[in-house]
Amino acid sequence: MDKVYLTWWQIDRAVFALAEEMRKKFMPDLIVGVARGGLIPAVRLSHILGDVDVKVIAVKFYKDIEEHMEKPVVTIPLHGSLDGKRVVIVDDVSDTGKTLEVVIEEVKKLGAKEVKVACLSMKPWTKIVPDFYVFRTDKWIVFPWEEFPVVVRE
Ligand code: 5GP
Repeated sequence: MDKVYLTWWQIDRAVFALAEEMRKKFMPDLIVGVARGGLIPAVRLSHILGDVDVKVIAVKFYKDIEEHMEKPVVTIPLHGSLDGKRVVIVDDVSDTGKTLEVVIEEVKKLGAKEVKVACLSMKPWTKIVPDFYVFRTDKWIVFPWEEFPVVVRE
């Protein structure tokens, strides 16, 4: 599968774009960051939106590029109640959409009043099209936090 590389600059611009849309359409009172890929955008978004609370959920699905298990498994569950909250779930990319499907279910189960999804990117075939997204590609995305551009000498 072809790869596309995103830079820190592009990511930061993208998170600002997501924040701008949210201010107009859906201001959350809680951000749920999906570990690991959603954590950096979730924290950045929280600061840009004015210190919105962040909770973390971890879901394990992909073992490696294109090799995956049948159903994503929650490895770190959400902590506490989400009663009456306006929640935005933040992840890096919606690919099959199976991860987001599981996270949406968990968030609703904990009592969230409204749930929206924000991703930096989506794949054209996903079954969960995020309410907010910036990039759309059928390529494998390499995020800047996955790269090791600096050579560390012993
Ligand atoms: P899904 O459940 O939507 O198929 O994918 C869930 C997770 O797989 C994403 O949150 C992400 O961590 C990983 N993933 C899917 N597609 C890509 C991609 O193009 N690049 C990277 N780096 N991770 C991906």
